Amino acid sequence: MMSGVHRLKQSITAIKGIGDETAVALAEMNIYSIEDLLEHYPFRYEDYRLKDLTEVKHEERLTLEGKVQSEPSLVYYGRKKSRLTVKLLVDHFLIQVIFFNQPYLKKKIVLNETIQVTGKWDMHRRTITASEMQLGPSNQKEMLSPVYHVKGTITVKGIRRFLQLAFQQYGDKINETLPQHLLAKYRLPSRKESIKMIHFPSDDDDIKQARRRIVYEEFLYFQLKMQALRKFEREQSQGVMQSYDLKKLKGFLHSLPFPLTNAQKRVVNEILADMKSPYRMSRLLQGDVGSGKTVVAAIALFASISAGFQGALMVPTEILAEQHAESLIGLLQAFNIQCELLTSSVKGKKRKEILERLQLGEIDVLIGTHALIQDEVHFHKLGLVITDEQHRFGVEQRKILREKGENPDVLFMTATPIPRTLAITVFGEMDVSVIDEMPVGRKTIETYWAKHEMLERVLAFMEKELAKGRQAYVICPLIEESEKLDVQNAIDVHAALMTYFDGRYQIGLMHGRLNADEKDTVMKAFSQNELQVLVSTTVVEVGVNVPNATLMVIYDAERFGLAQLHQLRGRVGRGSEQSYCILLANPKTEIGKERMQIMTETNDGFVLSEKDLELRGPGDFFGKKQSGVPEFKLADMVHDYRTLETARNDAAMMIQSEEFWHSPSYAALRDYLHKSEVLKGEKLD
Ligand code: ADP
Ligand code: MG
Repeated sequence: MMSGVHRLKQSITAIKGIGDETAVALAEMNIYSIEDLLEHYPFRYEDYRLKDLTEVKHEERLTLEGKVQSEPSLVYYGRKKSRLTVKLLVDHFLIQVIFFNQPYLKKKIVLNETIQVTGKWDMHRRTITASEMQLGPSNQKEMLSPVYHVKGTITVKGIRRFLQLAFQQYGDKINETLPQHLLAKYRLPSRKESIKMIHFPSDDDDIKQARRRIVYEEFLYFQLKMQALRKFEREQSQGVMQSYDLKKLKGFLHSLPFPLTNAQKRVVNEILADMKSPYRMSRLLQGDVGSGKTVVAAIALFASISAGFQGALMVPTEILAEQHAESLIGLLQAFNIQCELLTSSVKGKKRKEILERLQLGEIDVLIGTHALIQDEVHFHKLGLVITDEQHRFGVEQRKILREKGENPDVLFMTATPIPRTLAITVFGEMDVSVIDEMPVGRKTIETYWAKHEMLERVLAFMEKELAKGRQAYVICPLIEESEKLDVQNAIDVHAALMTYFDGRYQIGLMHGRLNADEKDTVMKAFSQNELQVLVSTTVVEVGVNVPNATLMVIYDAERFGLAQLHQLRGRVGRGSEQSYCILLANPKTEIGKERMQIMTETNDGFVLSEKDLELRGPGDFFGKKQSGVPEFKLADMVHDYRTLETARNDAAMMIQSEEFWHSPSYAALRDYLHKSEVLKGEKLD
């Protein structure tokens, strides 16, 4: 006999009443098996339950019952457009009902008869814009009706009917997947009950309870994969044990021109503990722009070198590599530590020499771009790899890096504050450290939001700053669909500013179409104040350090994510002078306005990134190309964040426990893990 699980894996056509043609249409919606259908959850419910008008909120959807008080009046406008209005007495209130483009209803609505209408309530106008109508007083029982995403020939009503059939024929075969003690602990309904309640709820509580269970289960499955991957990584990959010299390290700390912040101390300890352990470190270090990650990197590198290893620092651009090399040499040189820079512009004899000395172990720290992960680069004894702005490196490069050398410890640094929710999902296989405190005495960057009409005033302000001897960035948005447009935009703005400043100041132009050398030349000219204004696309986004720049103007700011705006803003405020950021934006939506507003209100990258995630959703957070954000059928990482955390902790505990790997109550979860894509080919037990 087939087990319940297997039965639900059968093709959808096993359901009597669903034929081949329907199956083809359902396949378009990625519904192939009975289980797929059962897990095609509604995204909202139509509420046909009668409501008390006094309790209804503005813009809420609802069903009302009342007596018709006027002859319906029908108005045509435009082509095929019509508006039907009628007055309705609901309880003691007289309200207006509007139907758009349903002229045929006019004949059905009769004065003094009772009707029910379903639609959206406008509290201020005491009007309901109705999409549905029923004649006569309500006799059917109060109802919540699920609404599904559909495609092609499949309708919502169709899905409802298919689900009814599925339940009649296979409802009994929905087996439990979670161990009983977890159901008891969180008071979750069974899998069968939950799936039933989510599709056929009798009240709001059914939906709530069903959701709780399904969301938890989805997160748990996902986190089990992540935690298993992590366990696997740790056990399979014996890392290097770096027994650093604590005394020397303390000497180094004393040599720093400032005391570490508490947050820096905490993350340094987390990193050192990893390095000393036999596990291979795989840690994400997050810290807002200016929070002092470089010095943390220097400490980790120092520790590694004192233990007899070499270190590498990898960054996404040449400009950044040079800047990092400069600061690291400044910090480490006094301790006789050899640092070298390797980028694609280091060529010929010099390159050969560096590669040789590296292999001999004469170079302690190598700093560079992607050049570092090329085949020709061989370390003598690589112990620690650090990457800066790691989100720029895709998952693939993350992997190459981990595979380079003899299992070096890896630290990924990023200034993009990744909301906790995303960090524990997207980077779930890593440990996370956070620098959540700024060094004392930082001036906050004053941020203003101006409409494009105010450009003249903004330029006047810019001129004032320039007259004081300061410099300014002007950023034009990156338009993903069209690189051309993007470049054109920067070119136009550059031309306009040339006209405006008329030779009084030098204005540079930078965009993605320039090659690395050209970019470098422009950037150097700006950092040496040969250019006072730099018009650029987002290529200046990361790491660039020109302390004399005090003004950042961002065109069409509403096109950027908040996290990105914050990154851009971080290019100023690096010197001792007060800095400013001006967002030029005419957002069309309320959300757009809210986003500009919040930029002016906070300088906290984490607050902004959480807000960004909330406003734009996880898919948009990293941009489409390398999001890697998992998709859930019902769960929402932002709103169900607490459940996500709970599931994560539970998953971590399970993976560590003996019981999980042997007890029958975990059989379904184990089975799922063994079949999951992530762990294909890996042996877990
Ligand atoms: P980011 O995290 O953006 O890489 P940096 O490492 O470049 O930040 O640090 C920004 C500035 O703050 C640098 O000039 C650095 O010397 C300084 N800094 C770092 N840590 C401290 C500290 N604990 N106290 C004072 N200044 C610090
Ligand atoms: Mg940095």
